[in-house]
Amino acid sequence: MTVAIDGPASSGKSTVAKRIADQLNLIYVDSGAMYRTITYVVIKERIDLTDQKAIVNALNSVSIEFERTVEGQSVFCNKIDVTDKIRQNDVTNAVSIVAAHPLVREVLVERQRKIALKQNVIMDGRDIGTVVLPDASVKIFLVASVDERAERRHKENKQKGIESDLTKLKQEITDRDYKDSTRKVSPLKKADDAIEIDTTALSIDEVVKKIKEIIFE
Ligand code: C5P
Repeated sequence: MTVAIDGPASSGKSTVAKRIADQLNLIYVDSGAMYRTITYVVIKERIDLTDQKAIVNALNSVSIEFERTVEGQSVFCNKIDVTDKIRQNDVTNAVSIVAAHPLVREVLVERQRKIALKQNVIMDGRDIGTVVLPDASVKIFLVASVDERAERRHKENKQKGIESDLTKLKQEITDRDYKDSTRKVSPLKKADDAIEIDTTALSIDEVVKKIKEIIFE
């Protein structure tokens, strides 16, 4: 079985996907973490964000692996744990530029498909239902208002002890959505056969329940 969950930034995809993965014994694949990992490498190695060739070269010598943990999932880049590093602001603010390079996407889409070939997966991202897994058994498109998404991110930060500015978060989410949905290659888009769920007024449990009902329909 393959479940594709797409949607804009901070729409709750990963939280919901992790829970469903646990409950239905699926492997959770966070495709955004793959784009974040190569972005982290690009920043660390001071590669020009617009230099597609250099980025692909770097990507070809980078392994990205996931490991299940009690809290969720850890991400390893060449066997080094980068779970927290890839969530830092510099990566978040640059990732949409790196993800817009067609050749970078080609490499990562191939890796994502390979993972899904071997096991039952729930994969989240922006182009899973449209490009990566067009034949997925179930396709979900999660949306929520920008205010609600910024609020959720703000709360999450607070729980982690990170101070953040709500207005700034709202602007960053809006900017990233704009870049992700207007890029030329594989823009953020609902697949024609995806089911859209507006999570603005729903709890995580309610969203999980809805998706499970769709899976078992
Ligand atoms: O899901 P997350 O917000 O961590 O994704 C980070 C970024 O990676 C997105 O804003 C987008 O630019 C890129 N991405 C993508 N295609 C995917 C997943 C993520 O372009 N399938």
